[in-house]
Amino acid sequence: MPALGCSLRGRIKTGQKQIRLPIHTGGFHLRSFSSEPHPVRMAFKYKRGGLNHMPEWYESRPTGEPRGGPLIGFLKRDMALLGIDYDTTLEFPENVGLYKEHFEKALKPEVLRCGNRTQVLDQTANLVAECLKREMMKGYRPEDQFKDEPFSTISTLMTKHGITYNARHLIPKVDEATQSIFDQANAVGAFAKRMFPTGIEIDTPPGDFAGAIRRTQATLPLRRPIFEATFAANGGYARADILNPVGRDEWDIIEVKSTTRTKDVHIPDLAFQLWVFTAAGLKIRRCVLCHVNNQFVRQGEVDPQELFKRHDVTAEVMGILDSIGEQVRTMEKIIGLAECPKIPIGKQCDSPVTCPLRENCWAFLPPQNVLDLYHDTKGRGLDLLNRGVLRLADIPGDYPLSEKQAIQRAVAISGKPHVKRIQIERFLSELNYPLHFLDFESFQTAIPIFDGTRPYEQIPFQFSLHLVRKVGGEPEHRKFLAEGRDDPRPDFLRRLKSAVEPVGSILVFNATFEKGRLKECAEAFPQYEPWVEKVINRMVDLIIPFKGFQFYHPDQCGSASLKYVLPALTGKDYKGLEIQEGGRASREFLRVTFADVTESERARVRQALDLYCGQDTEGMVWILDALKQIHHRPAGNPPLHSEAAGPCSVLRLLRRPQPSP
Ligand code: SF4
Repeated sequence: MPALGCSLRGRIKTGQKQIRLPIHTGGFHLRSFSSEPHPVRMAFKYKRGGLNHMPEWYESRPTGEPRGGPLIGFLKRDMALLGIDYDTTLEFPENVGLYKEHFEKALKPEVLRCGNRTQVLDQTANLVAECLKREMMKGYRPEDQFKDEPFSTISTLMTKHGITYNARHLIPKVDEATQSIFDQANAVGAFAKRMFPTGIEIDTPPGDFAGAIRRTQATLPLRRPIFEATFAANGGYARADILNPVGRDEWDIIEVKSTTRTKDVHIPDLAFQLWVFTAAGLKIRRCVLCHVNNQFVRQGEVDPQELFKRHDVTAEVMGILDSIGEQVRTMEKIIGLAECPKIPIGKQCDSPVTCPLRENCWAFLPPQNVLDLYHDTKGRGLDLLNRGVLRLADIPGDYPLSEKQAIQRAVAISGKPHVKRIQIERFLSELNYPLHFLDFESFQTAIPIFDGTRPYEQIPFQFSLHLVRKVGGEPEHRKFLAEGRDDPRPDFLRRLKSAVEPVGSILVFNATFEKGRLKECAEAFPQYEPWVEKVINRMVDLIIPFKGFQFYHPDQCGSASLKYVLPALTGKDYKGLEIQEGGRASREFLRVTFADVTESERARVRQALDLYCGQDTEGMVWILDALKQIHHRPAGNPPLHSEAAGPCSVLRLLRRPQPSP
């Protein structure tokens, strides 16, 4: 893939003066796409003016006109707008070869002189920015000229490694879970605006960046709160959730977050806004973070003044303001690179949020790799990766590992599960029949739906209970799924109380969740308190043997969660189910309960919810059976054929000699 760096010689007119300077215009990139009818895609990016415009790709696809025509059109127009002249020589480095003729045809008689773009980038960008600033002082508004084209935004600037610009095709579509987080955040943002009833929304269509700036400018003199106030300056583009006028000519920036506390990652967000807004000429008095108050309890209509808490974070924002310019320049450079920089995977992939490209960048890791190390708070996985060790089995014997991590290594080497029979036996011996296998599903909303509930309070709406009365007994299934739009908790508690037998162990997987929900319910409905206390005392956490590594199978990939343990131990999974995890169950329940859907859709989803929650508890029955089989079979003995009830990992592992406990 040959790439040409190009620089353009020209002049910027500033007032009476003309400054001659080399203007960096970006690079041409020739790429071969075997899937396209023509072998060439020509893309062009350049830093238009260096002030308000970020690099953007333009493609000249084979549409009949000479490729490069639209490209040179953009270039000429922009340069003309900026008062930049250009001369008329085109030079190519030798390696362009095949494409030289094409370029010449497309670009002649325009004036481009190929050079090393990285050498001129910094100095020319700064010079152009300076010149443009002066032009803007005189009323020139570049955004008016480029209204059909995207400006940079904080989100794209913040995109890791410039991939939004340089490898956009790699970014997967927003998945349903992420979209629901966005939707929740949008709902919170919209609600927060109710705190400012005289506010004016800058509600330009998505993508109309220049329009948003124009509308904001037109609204500023009204001195009213502005929602989504938009400015571009200093090479940055930023929108404020709320810009609130104070005094005669000052403003407060108010950033609304759907979290229940301020977080460190919120501060750079505000600092960037302050940096852009100040450069755009605004006087900012304070920077304020507004987040959801988790102590708020709904009673009747929700008062937005009570639902939100505000924190003045001006001091924190000022503390990092000086670094913003440097960060933006760094991002611009990264965005301007011809290709994505080669950055090794690391902590940044999951912090502060999981990168959407994680799956792509991590794809080179083999199964059972060092990043599966359990509870790796010391960063051993990354350390090993840096040393060139990818597989758990290749970790050197003298490398320091925790006890559980050492088990993972041993299991990866032997290919056999790790079993501590004595501990498993102890665990099993403490169970009392009838055995209950219990699981809850719940939902939570930032803005509470029911009286007496708090923001993000988990509201249980479903349970599944499998009951095994005696050894070898067939499981009986009892279940509940809330109907209607009322608070489901009273029915949930009533039905659960009648479903649970007065005696017997109650097995749950990761008991913290079920115990927490029951305690919250008992607080809200104190008549259930004594019963809830007894139920909690009878609970046994089925995660214990797995969290404690009394049993560890290589397929668990360092996880003790039900979604890993079930297939590793029993060979069964959730793949055939429409709903495969709790987050989706919550979203689907909320959708078919509170949104307008047809009766048949509601019935279909409720059936899927039944199947999902039922599988969680039936899966626990299978897991306990598998643990019993492991426990009963003497170490080293071949498995009994009667165990071969179907294709599953537990049978696979039972066919192998068992390690000593
Ligand atoms: S997954 Fe990690 S390495 Fe890949 S782009 Fe994201 S942050 Fe960078």
